[in-house]
Amino acid sequence: MPAAMEKQIEELKQQLEKQCLINKELQRQNKDLEKRLTEKEKLLQQLQSQYHDLEFPSQTGNEIEPEVRKSRAAVIASEPIPENLEIKRARVKKNVSETSLIVKAIQKNDFLSRLDDEQIAMMVDLLKVSHFNPGDEVIQEGSEGDSMYIVAAGELSVTQSGRDLRTLTSGDVFGELAILYNCKRTATVKAKTPVHLWCMERQTYRSIMTNKSKKKREQLVGFLKTAHTLKDLNDVQLSKIIDSMEEVKYQDKDVIVREGTEGNAFYIILKGEVLVTKNVNGHEKQIRRMGKGEHFGEQALIREVLRTATCTADGPVTCFSIDKEVFEETIPVEHLELFDDSKVMQEAQAPEKSSPSSTLRLKDLIPVFYQEGRYQGDPVTLGVGGFGRVALMTTLPHGKYYAVKRVSKKHIVAKRQEEHMLFEKKILKAVQCEFIVRLHGAFKDTRYIYMVMEFCSGGEIWTKLKEVGRFDEPVAVFCTACVVEAYAYLHKKNIMYRDLKPENLMLDVKGYIKLVDFGFAKELVRGEKTYSFVGTPEYMAPEIIKNQGHDFAVDFWSLGILIFELLAGSPPFSSSEPQKIYAKILDGEIRYAPYMSEAAKSIISKLCRPRPGQRLGNTKNGIKDVRHHRWFSSMNWHKLRVGQLEAPTARLIRKGPCYINFDRFPDDQTKAEEEFSGWDRDF
Ligand code: ATP
Ligand code: MG
Repeated sequence: MPAAMEKQIEELKQQLEKQCLINKELQRQNKDLEKRLTEKEKLLQQLQSQYHDLEFPSQTGNEIEPEVRKSRAAVIASEPIPENLEIKRARVKKNVSETSLIVKAIQKNDFLSRLDDEQIAMMVDLLKVSHFNPGDEVIQEGSEGDSMYIVAAGELSVTQSGRDLRTLTSGDVFGELAILYNCKRTATVKAKTPVHLWCMERQTYRSIMTNKSKKKREQLVGFLKTAHTLKDLNDVQLSKIIDSMEEVKYQDKDVIVREGTEGNAFYIILKGEVLVTKNVNGHEKQIRRMGKGEHFGEQALIREVLRTATCTADGPVTCFSIDKEVFEETIPVEHLELFDDSKVMQEAQAPEKSSPSSTLRLKDLIPVFYQEGRYQGDPVTLGVGGFGRVALMTTLPHGKYYAVKRVSKKHIVAKRQEEHMLFEKKILKAVQCEFIVRLHGAFKDTRYIYMVMEFCSGGEIWTKLKEVGRFDEPVAVFCTACVVEAYAYLHKKNIMYRDLKPENLMLDVKGYIKLVDFGFAKELVRGEKTYSFVGTPEYMAPEIIKNQGHDFAVDFWSLGILIFELLAGSPPFSSSEPQKIYAKILDGEIRYAPYMSEAAKSIISKLCRPRPGQRLGNTKNGIKDVRHHRWFSSMNWHKLRVGQLEAPTARLIRKGPCYINFDRFPDDQTKAEEEFSGWDRDF
């Protein structure tokens, strides 16, 4: 071999050895990084569990809001409410100074102050007094809360894990989250001195609020029926109008409508009296006086008219009103067509696929195991939710993958979620939509119920969002469009989804989105309302928080929140303390980031309108208006429906073992207790 060549070989060899050394060093560094990452993750998890459900406001006052939502959102599901609790018996008389203390306390509370006047008044009525001696524990950290309190007199200490947090005195509110739903107390409150408290139980509050909201709606429908112009509308249509109407307050002598001006709104008087006057030869002549339940300005709803009289508030007046424009958006004058895109939908429906549910048996399913990493050899867990654990399984003969959701029956009974569970299965079994996860079978034994679903191998949108921080517009548009298609399908079947969030959106192999988790879905007759408190705090519509009764419109609200979170990485209303989230939602102010497009801001603000009847998707053209919004101008809806659109989400999907797109979870060997009450008879 020539010397030159030998030299070259020697050089190459040296280079190779050097490279090997570098590789080894890199590998070592990698391992080190991985170890540190695991430690960080552990620490984060610990911190998260410590801060989870923090119910007591921090004392610093200038807390910095988290920029991004780091943990999965907790779900809330209230127990069913007792029907028809009597208001009269629950009322407790109070003198002026007691009332004033309570009202002041409510007004300085972040969350309570944002409830409606009527709700606050009702709350004042319902609070009842209770006494505690020094040393008595009023609420205990870790226990389940069912009451809220206002301090009438005395001092109490607030401690968390033995640490003193603060002292409560007269006029302070605590435990207020418990009037909305069952939640764990995050601190202990003990009387330091003899203490008088005003307290109220959730069951009382919720059932009375619910009854009141129902009665109010009935009454409003009654009022509307007396308007001549509206006499041909049915109850569903009248209910829609109510959803679009807004409360407006006037002070004494305020002119509500003025003779000779253009009329553009219709009013019903809810409270107070209104004077109707007409100008006769330069003098205001009183024609009549109107009171509660009477209406004026109805002509303005259907034609261009000038006001023929002046209406002035006589003392404080509250009206319920609707603008002509909003009215036209709500009701087509001749008839109400909620979803007139039925033809399109039929096209979209996939031909019936033969589902293996009839042949699939639970015992044919075998777990899939992690092939490497820290959980190597453990069965693969795809997700852990509030109610269950979802495992990856396969069948021997076909080698097909399934996601199997397993939920403890005891847990369901304890949380009173039997109905939700039965409904989840019933709905999933009935739906056939490309944008909704398929259910292949449902099983039960003495401890668990199981739902065998199609495996969405691309992982959760939530995970992808956390990986990239925020989505660019085409990805967000595509994801949202898939949800719109799922909604169109569900709403047409009169099913509300009620749990939209990135955690419940899964990607299939192609990057198309499927809705999973139908735990909160519900069938609802058009025109009716439901009063349960369910959902995820960040995604809850204001009417749920206020117990006003809700319907399909909550799905459009949450669609707006979803678009925001996809584009920004975090939802618009967020805080580590749920009651602060609710306060922000009731405020309704959305702060958009500078990088959000005009179109994005427009669709979000239209979907997140506080009045359900004014929300995009819930006005007279239904979901069509959402599809036609300019934010979707680049979307080819037909191609999307038939699966011919290339998904921009595809590049988010990783290649590797079948569980590569999922977070990893340690195995859980604990067995749930057996449960025999029989609620799952029909499961
Ligand atoms: P939640 O706390 O939201 O009520 P849950 O207990 O009802 O949760 P799901 O939301 O249905 O459970 O599932 C929990 C997680 O399991 C999902 O967020 C997802 O990561 C994973 N998962 C659920 N269904 C599937 C599926 N079909 N394919 C793949 N992964 C799935
Ligand atoms: Mg879920």
